[in-house]
Amino acid sequence: MKETQIYDYIIVGAGAAGLMLANAMALDPFFSNQRILILDKDPKEANDRTWCFWEKTPGPLEALISREWSLIGVSENDQLTPSPILPYKYKMLEGAHFYEAMKKGLAHSPNCHFVLEEVTDVSPVSAAAAAATKAAGILKDGYTKVNTSRGTYLAPRVFNSIFDYKPLLAQDRYPVLQQHFVGWFVSTQNPIFNPEMATFMDFTVAQKGNTRFMYVLPTSATTALVEYTLFSKDRLKKEAYEAAIVTYLAQNNAGDYEINDTEAGSIPMTCYPFEQFNSPHLLHIGTAGGWSKPSTGFTFSNTQKQVPKLVAHLKKGKALDQFPSKDRFWWYDHILLEVLATDNSRGKAIFEGLFKRRSAPLILKFLSQETHFFEELYIMSAANKWRFTKAFFRVLGRTFN
Ligand SMILES: Cc1cc2nc3c(=O)[nH]c(=O)nc-3n(C[C@H](O)[C@H](O)[C@H](O)COP(=O)(O)OP(=O)(O)OC[C@H]3O[C@@H](n4cnc5c(N)ncnc54)[C@H](O)[C@@H]3O)c2cc1C
Repeated sequence: MKETQIYDYIIVGAGAAGLMLANAMALDPFFSNQRILILDKDPKEANDRTWCFWEKTPGPLEALISREWSLIGVSENDQLTPSPILPYKYKMLEGAHFYEAMKKGLAHSPNCHFVLEEVTDVSPVSAAAAAATKAAGILKDGYTKVNTSRGTYLAPRVFNSIFDYKPLLAQDRYPVLQQHFVGWFVSTQNPIFNPEMATFMDFTVAQKGNTRFMYVLPTSATTALVEYTLFSKDRLKKEAYEAAIVTYLAQNNAGDYEINDTEAGSIPMTCYPFEQFNSPHLLHIGTAGGWSKPSTGFTFSNTQKQVPKLVAHLKKGKALDQFPSKDRFWWYDHILLEVLATDNSRGKAIFEGLFKRRSAPLILKFLSQETHFFEELYIMSAANKWRFTKAFFRVLGRTFN
């Protein structure tokens, strides 16, 4: 066992949120005299996920983008309809490229230490307890203790990105759905993909009482990531996702095909108040901090937005639990989730109807939470008013009870 070590900042988890935060701090001279520890149980070398997001202009990760599209496809009346998304582009970033670039950035910062250890416990220690134990003499204002398989680390500011489904599932106050999926990277015999269009939501697959769609990211006419995706409460058996992909490829006349790689995941879709686990010395970040968009599961670009805000927050010396967590979009997400949780088969009609009645760029702007209030009213007026009004009052009642 190593002796207890003290840092100024500890980042638990070197995934999307942890690495983005570590890099932002490493690049900012404000933190150059601060000791920053990044802990992960995984060396982050595998290409374990493909991230997609949209943006208008080349962003800070532009050099890592492996593919981009100016058209997205959403089904309408059982046909896939391409929609231009200018001024946006839908961009693809491979996990392995991101991890490599971020770790390379950290390697140039002598104050940042990446340590490969499994974290077993993250627990805030109050100022009173800290004073009582006089932890190392310098942590008198409270700190958070991080235990790992090999030792103990303390810091007055700890960021935790380890996500745990258990507290979400142990309550019924907030609806909890998952965006769950299995994807195959395939090479097909026949040229069935439109390489200019990313298929966002193809609802031509059987709905079976849920919100089920195919998400397709083509890299050529014969190669694509084909992902069978659900917005629903419970995951399926692996074979069920795979069978749906097999059927989809056959229906689209793929011919023979090879599976070159696979990915799978489950992203929480919920307005659950993750911030209740924060303290002045501990902030949950990434999916664990509620940074996944509840109504879609998109997390990556929100993390890109949250990180600079968090760095600014740190530079002002504010307590971590004062980092803002909710805005009016929380209400919109909550209402949509309430509708989908009450009748999970409604997703196809809601999303197809939205893309039919409103322009794709405006919808993307709304999902990025960059719309003005009147644009939001215009978008929401495309939905079934009676169903959404009932859901609104249920959410209102639950929130203030
Ligand atoms: C396959 C897949 C595809 C996705 N695609 C998209 C997409 O296209 N667009 C989008 O916006 N979002 C997408 N997401 C959702 C989201 O962007 C990702 O899940 C993202 O990685 C979340 O970032 P994070 O930092 O919160 O969590 P993670 O990136 O999962 O990072 C958490 C880190 O904590 C580490 N860890 C966990 N437990 C421990 C422990 N006990 N000790 C030490 N370390 C630990 C893990 O190894 C991991 O590195 C996808 C998710 C998955 C799974």
